[in-house]
Amino acid sequence: MHILPILPYAYDALEPHIDARTMEIHHTKHHQTYVDKLNTGLEGTEYEEQSLEELLQSVAILPDDLKALVKNHWWGHYNHSLFWQMMSPDTTQTSDKLLSLIKSSFGSFDAFKQLFADKALSNFGSGWTRLIQRYDELEIVNTPNQENPIMKWDHVLLWIDLREHAYYLKHQQKRADYLASRWNVVNRIFVSSRVR
Ligand code: MN
Repeated sequence: MHILPILPYAYDALEPHIDARTMEIHHTKHHQTYVDKLNTGLEGTEYEEQSLEELLQSVAILPDDLKALVKNHWWGHYNHSLFWQMMSPDTTQTSDKLLSLIKSSFGSFDAFKQLFADKALSNFGSGWTRLIQRYDELEIVNTPNQENPIMKWDHVLLWIDLREHAYYLKHQQKRADYLASRWNVVNRIFVSSRVR
């Protein structure tokens, strides 16, 4: 049985960058729905008692009838569970190691932010934009819907939800404004801790 994780901060903690109502709906409605549908889909199967991490390791050997469940609700649950931790209301610092990877990969932190925004704006429709690490190189990639690159790429450090439910109430169609706001609440300690 999977459960909705408790947020490490209050719904209004990320104001004014991310509004409380958006956070509450995103967490209690959207994320809860992924959890509920995942539980319903796994009920009565041998995967019912597995943790999210165990489930992710058996993606490749899943029977066909569970593949769609994975692509949507299971990854949706996993994406969001980490997404909440990738944000913080506190002022957090990027580690020296991550900073130097960013500089060697993109030239500067500002160049990285610009590239990330450009990539996110080019992600048509719903999906996520992700900062990935491959050995000593960083790359920014787009993925559609809830698809998770865990099977395709080496390691993801940061991901940002681009579905309109993540920003529509405050920013409407202006994804660029949402992205600019998001940088103010990135949990740089958490993201830095994911560097290998
Ligand atoms: Mn979402």
